[in-house]
Amino acid sequence: MSNPFLLAVDDDPGVARAVERDLRARYAEDYNVLRAESGASALQTVQALKQRGDRVALFLVDQRMPEMTGVEFLSQASSIFPAARKVLLTAYSDTQVAIEGINSIGLDYYLVKPWTPPERNLYPVLDDVLSDWVASASLPYTGLRVVGSLTSVDSHRVKDFLTRNLIPYTWVDVDRDPDAEALLTSLGPGEHDLPVVFFADGRHLVNPDNVTLAEEGGLSTRPSQEFYDLIIAGAGPAGLGAAVYAASEGLRVALVEGDAPGGQAGQSARIENYLGFPKGLSGADLTRRAVTQAKRFGVEILTARSVEAVETEHPYHTVSITGGDQLSCQALLVATGASTRILDVPGAEDVTGAGLYYGTTVSEARNFTGERVFVVGGGNSAAQGVEFLSRFARRVTLLARGSDLANSMSQYLVDRLGQNDVIEVRNRAEVVAVEGDGRFGAVIVRDKDSGEEERLEGAAMFVYIGAKPRTEFLAERVRTDPAGFLITGPDLLDRGKRPADWWPKRDPFLHECSVPGIFAAGDVRHGSVKRVAAAIGDGGSALHSIHQYLSTV
Ligand SMILES: Cc1cc2nc3c(=O)[nH]c(=O)nc-3n(C[C@H](O)[C@H](O)[C@H](O)COP(=O)(O)OP(=O)(O)OC[C@H]3O[C@@H](n4cnc5c(N)ncnc54)[C@H](O)[C@@H]3O)c2cc1C
Repeated sequence: MSNPFLLAVDDDPGVARAVERDLRARYAEDYNVLRAESGASALQTVQALKQRGDRVALFLVDQRMPEMTGVEFLSQASSIFPAARKVLLTAYSDTQVAIEGINSIGLDYYLVKPWTPPERNLYPVLDDVLSDWVASASLPYTGLRVVGSLTSVDSHRVKDFLTRNLIPYTWVDVDRDPDAEALLTSLGPGEHDLPVVFFADGRHLVNPDNVTLAEEGGLSTRPSQEFYDLIIAGAGPAGLGAAVYAASEGLRVALVEGDAPGGQAGQSARIENYLGFPKGLSGADLTRRAVTQAKRFGVEILTARSVEAVETEHPYHTVSITGGDQLSCQALLVATGASTRILDVPGAEDVTGAGLYYGTTVSEARNFTGERVFVVGGGNSAAQGVEFLSRFARRVTLLARGSDLANSMSQYLVDRLGQNDVIEVRNRAEVVAVEGDGRFGAVIVRDKDSGEEERLEGAAMFVYIGAKPRTEFLAERVRTDPAGFLITGPDLLDRGKRPADWWPKRDPFLHECSVPGIFAAGDVRHGSVKRVAAAIGDGGSALHSIHQYLSTV
């Protein structure tokens, strides 16, 4: 397959040539660069590329073209290449049009002319949008193939783990894909457990665990040292935020993640309220950027390893992680966030991972193209899930217990759900049971007003019903509120008095827990704001407390 294409469109031949020249200067090795001098001729080129089976990574288009504006061109071209990134070249006076384009056509970026010098004004933007494209495009087969079934819980686990750790793979469905039989036959006669993961070098693994997958995918799972200045439990936004700040300030940091970096935010299809990303960004994108940044500063990230226990012998903490390793530190930051509450109704457990999912796993959503699916929950994360699924499913029914979504969901999301024909909202709807024979088949919903029950058939159900803090590994050694969130800093004081077992001759620092040297940040901390930006900020400000503490030991 040939390299992907970058297409520059400008009706001024001189400008079109200049853009083409600058694009070639930087990207010629990995991309083919084309230019067109009108929207109409560019559309012909786009159609020809599509017919030849080529891929387009970027449209870089002038807004002011006489017969077809840049936004009009992009709207048509992106129906042919939906994944291509869209960047508009504008004059200052077109800025408002470009901002509107973010909503109307999903514009990725706009550049104000002139863009010279390109090293400062063009390449940083294009490097960024092209690395997004590379991360999200379904690139040709790269080596890892997962042969499995949609009814197999472990197939879902393997796909989800690879997706959330950004390890590329090709999914081969035994029930739909003709290649599956040939691959399984190559293992010998008889039945084979699923999933089977095939590697480029011919090896295969039957139903590998997450640690093996992480190691095969080139991720680090074992600590390289015994002692760190700071160990962070949990690589969600709070843990990643703290890790970047800490390592950039020279601390030796180990970040221990039980599953995949990104935490709850990593499951979000689109985070729209994160400052500086006017178009919003996906949780996977935010995670990829944060992990790269953390590694650049030297953070050691251990993936698929959970913190199981913590022992403290002042001033050291020893952390035991799954798999038997132990590592010690001067300060421990707990950023283990919260995990989704489980839907406790008859039948749900039997089909979890086989049609019933917690959160909208990007790896699964595409499997329900053209199907009817359900989303349970009434908060912002449920709304994001509904919107994401509506890109694939024929019908998405939101089942919410409250009487008005506006009480639990941001208004802009309520409005958008109302404008989307694929989406149906049922308020006062309580899930009372789930049915399925090895795979989700139907949900029984009770109308909370009339008490009537209805059986609704569908292909899958995605559940978002809140979260509970993950502090099990601390046992009862650290003080929590009744819901289990870690109490820190001034909240530990009772009318100004320190807790009875608090021995330092100072008050706990702002993010410090009831054990000196153990800190908390993000969703797991009592009183924290449950948002991505807040968690990142909390991770950063926990570091201030950690520095204060380190200066005392
Ligand atoms: C689907 C969804 C969509 C959302 N969308 C938005 C949005 O658009 N905007 C917004 O502002 N907020 C959004 N939120 C909320 C936001 O994601 C959270 O507030 C944020 O992720 C909290 O970050 P955190 O780092 O504190 O915890 P988490 O994100 O929960 O991360 C904690 C991490 O710790 C790990 N962990 C847990 N226990 C252990 C252990 N024992 N050892 C090692 N690791 C462990 C977990 O695997 C996880 O990776 C969304 C949440 C969800 C679920």
